[in-house]
Amino acid sequence: MPSYLHDVARRLIAFDTVSAASNAAAAAYLADELARHGFRVTCQEYESDGATKVNVVATAGPPVDGGLIVSGHIDVVPFAEQAGWTRDPLAFAVDDARAYGRGASDMKGFLAQCVAAAAAIDRARLARPLVFVFTADEEIGCGGARRLVPELAALLGDVPLPTAAWIGEPTGWRAYHTHKGVVAFTVTAHGIAGHSSLPERGQNAIAVMARAIAAIGAYQAELRAAAPRASAADFPECPYTPLNLGAVRGGSADNMIADRCTLTVSYRPLPDEDPLTVHREIARRLAAADLRDPGSPAVAARVDVGAAAVVAGMRSPRGTPLAAALAAALGARAAGGAGGAPFATDGGELARGGIASLVCGPGELEQAHQPDESIARVAFEGGVEVIRRVVDRLCALERGL
Ligand SMILES: [Zn+2]
Repeated sequence: MPSYLHDVARRLIAFDTVSAASNAAAAAYLADELARHGFRVTCQEYESDGATKVNVVATAGPPVDGGLIVSGHIDVVPFAEQAGWTRDPLAFAVDDARAYGRGASDMKGFLAQCVAAAAAIDRARLARPLVFVFTADEEIGCGGARRLVPELAALLGDVPLPTAAWIGEPTGWRAYHTHKGVVAFTVTAHGIAGHSSLPERGQNAIAVMARAIAAIGAYQAELRAAAPRASAADFPECPYTPLNLGAVRGGSADNMIADRCTLTVSYRPLPDEDPLTVHREIARRLAAADLRDPGSPAVAARVDVGAAAVVAGMRSPRGTPLAAALAAALGARAAGGAGGAPFATDGGELARGGIASLVCGPGELEQAHQPDESIARVAFEGGVEVIRRVVDRLCALERGL
């Protein structure tokens, strides 16, 4: 089995599936392998920024309630401009301790384990559906899952929507039942261009933005101070909705009045909150604030708050059968009960679709998105058996029946 696992990982890592590119070739390979192992495969195809993207859904077992989704994303983060690589990012390689390549931890290593487990599972013993869901565009805002989840019931055909989903993102086998969402948007200050010698003929968009940033900062402090007590259990290091100013751009020369300044803002809403509450409140506060340029105070300023891109947060019950099955399959490797994952995943979309989702995978978070990305061989090679045991416990007939 290790040789087939290595072969699948080698093939998957060799496909350049950076989110900006098409993942169609990698998806076709995954679909072919799963079909070869007896799974019924359907694909959802869509166009995004001129590239063809494909989500893959593969099903085995009878069309009854109580199925299990095992899920991962096909796309990877960029490597071409990333300093620090001493290896070919698209060439799978192993040494005594680790396996290397872009996506080894995040998360082609887990996809390879899924395919190898699909080959090893006795489909005739499945009493409930096993569904592999492999998505596009996770790394750029979970766009693949957002398109897939509303269509999932149709793509599954006569198989009822499963009740549980396991997302094998890199957690070092820690199990997370919740995570925050991510919301991002751009604020634009519109000024009036002019020469710096006559400030009152213009309006400096940078000065306007400075006031907007101060207003956002005051709100940020309120959010921090108003951390709900209940969220400390899942997010002890940051039990509130953190807000970040990502990039500010404006102006072109020291003697010119800047006519435009943009600011990107993102925040990570707690999973039980309406993700757009903070966005709406920032728009309300900026509309009410005095944002005039101090150098040209007679002119009213115009500030736009752009539309928000939303990655859903995830909240699933603790102590689900999936959590118990993972703990049993991992045994001594189980890394203890964790609360909130420190990143967002496709699980937010799946949870919004009514599927109790859990994030737990063999890769290491410290390796994700890094140069010379790698995964420990013991976690890589042991993961096939973990998947097989979880599936056996949740989907298979009782032994002896
Ligand atoms: Zn990932």
